[in-house]
Amino acid sequence: MHELGITQGIIDRAREAAHGAGSERVSDLYIIIAPAADFTQESIEMYFEMLAGEDPLFAGAKLHFEERPVAALCLACGEEFVTDARQPACPMCRSFEVRLDPTAPMVQLREIGVDDDTAAEDEA
Ligand SMILES: [Zn+2]
Repeated sequence: MHELGITQGIIDRAREAAHGAGSERVSDLYIIIAPAADFTQESIEMYFEMLAGEDPLFAGAKLHFEERPVAALCLACGEEFVTDARQPACPMCRSFEVRLDPTAPMVQLREIGVDDDTAAEDEA
């Protein structure tokens, strides 16, 4: 159910952003996902379909995922580095005793794309 809450959060944010932009249709959602996230893009797409599939605001919307490197700390030698690996090894000492930045968001809505066709039709 973890992914369900996360996906709902993404939908809520996208809805707010669309309302803020005065748009009635979201065409794209650009989502940043941490490599260490313990869920898959497929599961988020599945929940998105389940939660927003009937919502006209999100009709035909596409999800775009982007993996972003996170800060990591080697617990063996203290080296700090960034990584996009799921189970990173320290670049200095090759240890797998690595802690990823616990404050890095696992999933984040970066921005939305809106379809302005409806707005243009209203003006015409
Ligand atoms: Zn190290």
